[in-house]
Amino acid sequence: MSSLYARKALLPSGWAEGVRFEISAGRIESAARGASLEDDEFEAGIVIPGICNAHSHAFQRALVGRTERRSPAGKDNFWTWRHEMYRLANAIDPDTMRVIARQVYTEMLAAGYTTVAEFHYLHQTAGDSGSADATIEAIISAAEEAGIRLTFVPILYERAGFDSPKPDDVQGLFVKGFDDFVSLYETAKSLVGERSTVGIGAHSLRAVTKESIDRIAELASAEGVPLHIHLAEQQREVDDCLVHYKTRPARWLLNRCDVDANWCLVHATHLEADEISAIARSGAVVCLCPSTEANLGDGIFPLEAYLDAGGSIAIGSDSHMTIDPFEELRWLEYGQRLTAQSRNVSVACGEHTGYALINRVATGGRRACGQETGRLEPGALADLLVLDDTDPMLLGHEADTLLDALVFAGYRVPIERVMVHGEWRVLEGRHVSQDSARKEYGRVAGALRTTAAGTR
Ligand SMILES: [Zn+2]
Repeated sequence: MSSLYARKALLPSGWAEGVRFEISAGRIESAARGASLEDDEFEAGIVIPGICNAHSHAFQRALVGRTERRSPAGKDNFWTWRHEMYRLANAIDPDTMRVIARQVYTEMLAAGYTTVAEFHYLHQTAGDSGSADATIEAIISAAEEAGIRLTFVPILYERAGFDSPKPDDVQGLFVKGFDDFVSLYETAKSLVGERSTVGIGAHSLRAVTKESIDRIAELASAEGVPLHIHLAEQQREVDDCLVHYKTRPARWLLNRCDVDANWCLVHATHLEADEISAIARSGAVVCLCPSTEANLGDGIFPLEAYLDAGGSIAIGSDSHMTIDPFEELRWLEYGQRLTAQSRNVSVACGEHTGYALINRVATGGRRACGQETGRLEPGALADLLVLDDTDPMLLGHEADTLLDALVFAGYRVPIERVMVHGEWRVLEGRHVSQDSARKEYGRVAGALRTTAAGTR
């Protein structure tokens, strides 16, 4: 049993002063208000729950900043970025995967993410023996080394597009037959440790057949695990779906499957009014990845209408253009403000935007990741952030505006410490193994520069 005293803590009922957390076996055993500091006890300024990153492709961390030169054709978009991402995927082996994932997971922890859902479809790598277990082991071992809580989500990828063209060479690294995919899921289940869990998913409507989506939905339901899928991220995907399925992607999915609170729909950028309300009614979580969606030129999610209809959201760092949950939320709200020409768009009247967004993504992230995190209460997992309440970002703020300051102050949030499963993973603002992770990553990043994107 260990304890932690917080001068101020964000509990499910709101802010509380003088809170003592007692922690045992990775969980919060008690959270007593009105406590006083005891001798030899660690005194935290502000304690808030750790944040779930509900959508990550770890290996794409190595592509950040390498796709920002306008091509001679001048028609850069998601699909041209994907071409570069495939070149990177083709250059990765299991050890490279582990090193990149470890680096990105240490960065996530230092930024306030304590759980990550890894949407994993790079099942083979160009240099491995043909066993998909190697990339699973790489991700799981990276998460364990970094100390982040992992929801490993193996992803089915079957084809290059709706009209079933044969996958190209790089897509061949993603492809699995359905039975092989199920055994891959079983392997992942047997490999995750006590701090981690699994989900399951399909890459997208374009990359997975109708029949396989049905089978994944059945399996997710039977297993009681979250089901993740990319949905309607690009207008071209909507257009192709209209050609081949005669309906829009979100409408098609809702007609075909019993989409419910177990589903995590990633992006869902291009929706019409009936799709917005139907997704909200289904109880599914929409995972928004604002910095990636902005970087790739995806479009803007219709957030105000979706929240008005009662929809649930989570956030993800996706391709890791930004690794900062507070910046993701700022981007989320700013994208809405720029299109609506209005302010405080993603909240109800009278609500504070930072407070409401952080609470919404805590609830949605918990569901999407299938983990008991995001709430500082007895029985919950002991995943939390300690903030420096003497930092100018927070000085002068009280309960009503503290979370607004975190989201909208616009510079690095003063995270002093991060705890996952009762253990400190970040101390004095640095991940405890930051130096060794960076050293390994430096070696890999240098080698990738000569083989993957960024050299042209
Ligand atoms: Zn994605």
